[in-house]
Amino acid sequence: MRTFEYLRAEDAATAVVEAAKPETRFLAGGTTLLDLMKLNVERPARVVDITRLSGLDTIEVSADVIRIGALAKMSKVADHADIKEAAPALSESLWRAASAQLRNMASVGGNLMQRTRCTYFRDPGAYSNCNKRNPGSGCAALDGVNRNHAVLGTSGVCIAIYPGDFAVSLVAFDATVIVRGASERKIPVDEFFLLPGDTPHLEHQLSAGEMIVGIEIPRSAALERSHYLKVCDRESYEFAAASAAVGIELEADGKTIRDVRIAVGGLATKPWRLRVVENLLKGKTLDEATLRTAAAATVDGAKSSGHNAFKIELAPKSWHAP
Ligand SMILES: Cc1cc2nc3c(=O)[nH]c(=O)nc-3n(C[C@H](O)[C@H](O)[C@H](O)COP(=O)(O)OP(=O)(O)OC[C@H]3O[C@@H](n4cnc5c(N)ncnc54)[C@H](O)[C@@H]3O)c2cc1C
Ligand code: SF4
Repeated sequence: MRTFEYLRAEDAATAVVEAAKPETRFLAGGTTLLDLMKLNVERPARVVDITRLSGLDTIEVSADVIRIGALAKMSKVADHADIKEAAPALSESLWRAASAQLRNMASVGGNLMQRTRCTYFRDPGAYSNCNKRNPGSGCAALDGVNRNHAVLGTSGVCIAIYPGDFAVSLVAFDATVIVRGASERKIPVDEFFLLPGDTPHLEHQLSAGEMIVGIEIPRSAALERSHYLKVCDRESYEFAAASAAVGIELEADGKTIRDVRIAVGGLATKPWRLRVVENLLKGKTLDEATLRTAAAATVDGAKSSGHNAFKIELAPKSWHAP
């Protein structure tokens, strides 16, 4: 591990000024950052500890909107009574992530910012060719073992999956990330994450020094009737092979779909909203035939790299049981 300077920020203004300096990273729960530093994947010269900043761990559920501070612990959000009632998919996506110890330590801001679990990315000692870690060096996964790699949103230079669960539920329900740098701005979470294209080392919209301070999720009937389903190689303590956040609102007749939101995880290079599938379902009768037709469109444009072909079959089943 490279020697680094440690700074504990006492206020948000100082944190963003310090973090704008070269080779600096924020430290929240540390459950991703320290792992990657020990692996020599992240080699910051400076780390700005933001865990003592006040007012960034609040959870508010009002009539129209849910506001979650970036430093709120995953476990606190998952177990919050009002979140469970107003937004079951948000709570479930956090409960299905990592382990109890990790959820008690990790923040939701850090959770959004976690990096891919691509084994080649995480092993610089054995693999020098990773375009995400070392731009222009090639991609070991393309001709390697790629069972846990993406089938949606890939490019010819990177097929790494975005591994988080919470962001999948956020993207399904039109959440916004609130960011503080020199000023404050709001970024729709769907735009926050970038496709790899030719620049897989650029993963999100944050500029140097910008800090996530919170997340806003508009309340809706679909969110109140939502669920997060996660399919894994083993039942717990595992990243998704495929997952889905789904919310649905029916008309008064109890069978016509008024509103539906679907996003999938474990399949794509970023949390993947299925707007085409949603549009196929809106206004239709909720029955087996409608669901089967729409489910088939889940994997429109999907591309297998070999070992991950099973995901193309699994993806529709993550939100629609056969
Ligand atoms: C064994 C294991 C299993 C896991 N399983 C899952 C799983 O199944 N599903 C899942 O979703 N996750 C899983 N995770 C990931 C885990 O949820 C993340 O490590 C955690 O949420 C990161 O939060 P943190 O506060 O510890 O972030 P940190 O490690 O402190 O930071 C992570 C990154 O985010 C940056 N950062 C942190 N806070 C901010 C902020 N406010 N603004 C801007 N940048 C910031 C840091 O600089 C760093 O780059 C797993 C992790 C481990 C170790
Ligand atoms: S898939 Fe992306 S992260 Fe993995 S080795 Fe290839 S370039 Fe690196």
